[in-house]
Amino acid sequence: MRLSRYFMPILKENPKEAEIVSHRLMLRAGMIRQQSQGIYSWLPLGKRVLDKVNAIIRDEQNRAGAIELSMPTLQSAELWQESGRYDAYGKEMLRIKDRQDRPMLYGPTNEEMVTDIFRSSVKSYKDLPLNLYHIQLKFRDEIRPRFGTMRSREFMMKDAYSFDLTREGAEHSYNKMFAAYLRTFDRLGLRAIPMRADTGPIGGKLSHEFIILADTGESEVFCHKDFVDFDIPGEHTDFDSVEGLQAIFNKWTSLYAATSEMHDQAAFNAVPEGDRLSARGIEVGHIFYFGTKYSEPMGAKVQGPDGKEHFVHMGSYGIGPTRLVPAIIEASHDDNGIIWPASVAPFDIVVINMKAGDQACDDTCELIYAALTKAGKDVLYDDTDDRAGTKFATADLIGVPVQIIAGPRAVANGEVEVKDRKTGARETMTIEAAINRFVA
Ligand code: ATP
Ligand code: MG
Repeated sequence: MRLSRYFMPILKENPKEAEIVSHRLMLRAGMIRQQSQGIYSWLPLGKRVLDKVNAIIRDEQNRAGAIELSMPTLQSAELWQESGRYDAYGKEMLRIKDRQDRPMLYGPTNEEMVTDIFRSSVKSYKDLPLNLYHIQLKFRDEIRPRFGTMRSREFMMKDAYSFDLTREGAEHSYNKMFAAYLRTFDRLGLRAIPMRADTGPIGGKLSHEFIILADTGESEVFCHKDFVDFDIPGEHTDFDSVEGLQAIFNKWTSLYAATSEMHDQAAFNAVPEGDRLSARGIEVGHIFYFGTKYSEPMGAKVQGPDGKEHFVHMGSYGIGPTRLVPAIIEASHDDNGIIWPASVAPFDIVVINMKAGDQACDDTCELIYAALTKAGKDVLYDDTDDRAGTKFATADLIGVPVQIIAGPRAVANGEVEVKDRKTGARETMTIEAAINRFVA
């Protein structure tokens, strides 16, 4: 992508409305724009990051055996009357009427809808277990939307829903998502700690929130510090192994970890003082097992091996991609801007032409840009006629992991500089060596 033809509206000044660093940097880097309170457009640079986050989430959901579909944002109130949640949900639900005066709503979550899909076609235990997910916008009319897309009214959610014949089956489904979440957050460059959680209006029996420790987090959390170094399940984890997944779950729930709602001071005091971590955290995922809470009122049942009908046991599993993007920034930035983990960076490499219009610089940059693009890298080429200082500041701000800098003096020697955004380390090397480093 040539920067001269891209749309990346950088802000020079710090936006006054931004209270936390991720919000400030997302606005300054031209990633998002607020359209009305708590409702955002994702501008091209932000959209690239969001897409990469979603690709990792999708990859790990698929690995764990979940199946993607897409459900609409607008739902009929009737479904929610069946489950009894239409009245219970309260003011966070945006209620709308269509032209026939039929009550509709903008979905805050999809338990009812997915249960309806399930009951319309699944009739036998032989079709279980089943886990269906989508990545879709949600709307919750939050009383205090704030911190940019960290807590917005319209936001994206990956929500998965599992169906099993028995409680034991449902626990295995829960453990699959538990392990998938550990892998997902790790691949996003984050350390998320599962904490026992309250089940809230979704209702339920077993629930964990996945929390990232960050000073700007809205939740108060308490946990054993060893969680910070626990091993993440590997990519060859066998998701069909009941014992294997139970062992992962047991390990990751063996030490104290709770949000303030579930906090038990006496139990926390039993943790040796030097091992206690009390901090603030950001909730990036939340999983629930809630048994037959929706299947019973909505009549979602299957025929079991005994020939009888059984209400299915369900769970739901949410991750917030539009919250994860700022959460990653909270965890990874410096005074100059964002430092993206390579896995979600909007571009892999930025090529900086320090003197656009200078034939040797232009030729060198074009050569590098073409070679790296051909090798499948996402390259941003800063071919604008801005001053070199402005270009450096922009490259640091948008946090692309690698900068290849071509200035007249180095280029005259057939060389460029390669800068690592995270460490700031710079290395001078031949043009060929710079290309080979990222092509090989
Ligand atoms: P919170 O406690 O932060 O209000 P929640 O418990 O109501 O969130 P869930 O119903 O558990 O949210 O939703 C699943 C995930 O969706 C959350 O873990 C979070 O990552 C994301 N999410 C929920 N509400 C918002 C929001 N207003 N803005 C952005 N992401 C959100
Ligand atoms: Mg939650």
